[in-house]
Amino acid sequence: MSGYFKEIYDGCKSLVVGLGITFKYMIRPVVTLQYPRQAVKMAPRYRGHIDLVPDAESGNKCIACGMCQRNCPSGCITLKSEKPEGAKKKVLTGYRLDFTKCSLCGLCVESCPTDALDFSKEYNLAGFKAEDFVFDLLKRCEERRR
Ligand code: SF4
Ligand code: SF4
Repeated sequence: MSGYFKEIYDGCKSLVVGLGITFKYMIRPVVTLQYPRQAVKMAPRYRGHIDLVPDAESGNKCIACGMCQRNCPSGCITLKSEKPEGAKKKVLTGYRLDFTKCSLCGLCVESCPTDALDFSKEYNLAGFKAEDFVFDLLKRCEERRR
């Protein structure tokens, strides 16, 4: 008979302890997000794929020097540039990133003389084929400026 009452006592005690924990967390700040409905704010040092930094005047800060392409150990970057008639400098006409090969080493960002590159905050990329992870960074940059 004493075992029967002990079981009731243990059950009630565990219920009270459980409810205590529930109420304690009810009044604490929420630390979870309703993903994917809510966007996650990534930490400042988070590294998504690289992106061209938009510039209000020229569109982007790239001078088409090719340093990022030459320094990338994985061959992820393919640049296209042209020198318009009468112009002194080259103009970037294409910036393709093959993110399937990128190790996020940051050598391209570090070697850029004009700080034209940065890491994006992309965290939920998804695709069905490798081509879904090949990005036109110049197009992305123009879209972000709008
Ligand atoms: S982060 Fe590294 S691997 Fe990725 S594109 Fe830049 S240099 Fe290449
Ligand atoms: S290193 Fe910088 S400026 Fe040079 S091509 Fe790459 S992004 Fe453009």
